[in-house]
Amino acid sequence: AAHSFQTINPATGENGRAYQGHTVDQAISIAADVHREQRDWRRTPFSVRSDLMKNAARSIRNNRERYARLMTDEMGKTVTDGLAELEKCAWCCQFFAERAEEFLRPIPQEMSANHAGPKPPPRAFVTFNPLGVILAVMPWNFPFWQVMRFAAPHLMAGNAGVLKHASNVPGCALAVEEIFQEAGFPTDIFRTVLLSSRDLKPLIEDPHIAAVTLTGSVAAGKSVAATAGAVMKKGVFELGGSDGYIVLEDADPVAAAKICARGRMVNGGQSCIAAKRFVVVERIREAFERALIEEMRQYVMGDPNDPKTRLGPMESVHSRDQIARQVSQSVKKGAEILLGGEVPKQPGAWYPATVLSNVLPGQPAHDDEVFGPVAAVISAKDEGDAIRIVNASHFGLGAAVITGDTARGERIAAEELDAGAAFVNENVRSDPRLAFGGVKDSGYGRELSDFGIREFCNIKSVLVE
Ligand code: NDP
Repeated sequence: AAHSFQTINPATGENGRAYQGHTVDQAISIAADVHREQRDWRRTPFSVRSDLMKNAARSIRNNRERYARLMTDEMGKTVTDGLAELEKCAWCCQFFAERAEEFLRPIPQEMSANHAGPKPPPRAFVTFNPLGVILAVMPWNFPFWQVMRFAAPHLMAGNAGVLKHASNVPGCALAVEEIFQEAGFPTDIFRTVLLSSRDLKPLIEDPHIAAVTLTGSVAAGKSVAATAGAVMKKGVFELGGSDGYIVLEDADPVAAAKICARGRMVNGGQSCIAAKRFVVVERIREAFERALIEEMRQYVMGDPNDPKTRLGPMESVHSRDQIARQVSQSVKKGAEILLGGEVPKQPGAWYPATVLSNVLPGQPAHDDEVFGPVAAVISAKDEGDAIRIVNASHFGLGAAVITGDTARGERIAAEELDAGAAFVNENVRSDPRLAFGGVKDSGYGRELSDFGIREFCNIKSVLVE
């Protein structure tokens, strides 16, 4: 039987709209429709796809107020963050509308070496054919961006999409489908199925699905990767992170604290690439902590509908309780609270901006991902110790170095840090021009850029004698 999806406003704890879900049979029948449509879609010229993708950008911008409101109501995002997210989605559509053809242009291969005999050498090239229908399993934290960064490149490549979004954002899930319909894409090129993760296995295994991508927790990623692997389907997995930011002794502590607080507080701290651990060389630790407290204090909890609000609620009371548990267990094992750390007595999923010091191995704030507004300060003896601490994580999504010496920062970022992205004197962000993804438990495969768009292509060698 179909599951019903009840939305809950995390700011108030009140029930919002409920959505009737699909049955597994309905979801599989949708996948079959998308599969049928993709066979024509793959033959459409880039110019046609590009015009439609530019329409999608327009459609996002035209509906921005309504979509931002939907995110606020379903997962508590502040309206300011919501509008910024939608603008980034439109940029991503525009970017791949303009660049996809170039990224997927066939690459000629030189075949004259070792060639003997009177005939000219064969002509050879590598071409990028779409794989087919991609199943996207997506999380609630950036309900539009996570989907668009999947859909914009892959629809441009000639693939089609079936979206299974997180259960708490059914309205956003349907809104993304609406964007592509409104833009004039063929009806079945991008479809949303409202399905619980419990019902997903038969859809992953369904022969109409060519490959899967998941953004979310490590547990969800491993489970979907195992199912996909058993039927030999390719996957791209963008899982959690516990990004470490190294603050070197030559950094300006105030400027460093600004970058770190901004990185930590992205989306109320609920971002895979949020800065989570601040690994600070002991010599400037106290100055950095003082500055960090001042920066984090600026994020006052408030109504997410108010454009002035910088910290809204967490996505759910369940998630908030998990953050509170991680903080209290860290404190039990020696962490010190410098700011926040107390759950307010009011309905909704509220948690304040928090700074922890003396964060050590064995504490959840050190070892695990804290998906909320909690900054963990870890002391390091020197540069080498800081690199070791950042790399000791089982995650490897993003990392950063804050230093007064950019050459030193560049060397550490480029050569030493085990992460899919390493930024110097700036907080880690996704950008359509840059490859995005992780190593270790943060997953495998890349999204965005020329690397991302080729992930769901058959990289085919063609030789003509
Ligand atoms: P989940 O990983 O559980 O959810 C992400 C998506 O995966 C949802 O669509 C969910 O569907 C689906 N899913 C979950 N479990 C399975 C499964 N076993 N098989 C198939 N699909 C599954 O994220 P949560 O919301 O539970 O967040 C928990 C933690 O995940 C966070 O604290 C954070 O550490 C991490 N996370 C990371 C994100 C990132 O951007 N990398 C984003 C969100 C969370 P359904 O909702 O129906 O269960």
